[in-house]
Amino acid sequence: MDCLFCKIAAGDIPSKKVYEDDKLIAFYDIEPKAPVHVLVIPKTHLAGVRDVTADNSTVVAHIFATIPQIAEKLGVSDYRIVTNNGADAGQTVQHLHFHLLAGRMLGEMG
Ligand code: AMP
Ligand code: ZN
Repeated sequence: MDCLFCKIAAGDIPSKKVYEDDKLIAFYDIEPKAPVHVLVIPKTHLAGVRDVTADNSTVVAHIFATIPQIAEKLGVSDYRIVTNNGADAGQTVQHLHFHLLAGRMLGEMG
């Protein structure tokens, strides 16, 4: 499948990795919107939140169970988790990913 984040998860495209286990990978966003901007993605391909079902949601639970450890590793206690679903929401990569943003006052949600 021609998916940028599947290629990053497979190691075929390099990334600046923060954390990895058998189900997920976390790496620095190439165009950071905050002093700390990391993407957390499942290794399995889901196009976005729209692909999450009762059967595959364990990976999403695993991502959220791991985010506190990733944040600790990054040295941040206050952070925002964002996921964009669909073009109108600003999704540009069609592989489920959670933005972890921190390191500045993040202000109100737009
Ligand atoms: P979204 O716009 O929510 O789909 O988020 C996609 C994010 O992926 C953007 O913040 C991009 O800066 C980021 N991005 C695109 N290509 C890469 C890459 N090769 N490595 C790291 N981050 C990337
Ligand atoms: Zn993918």
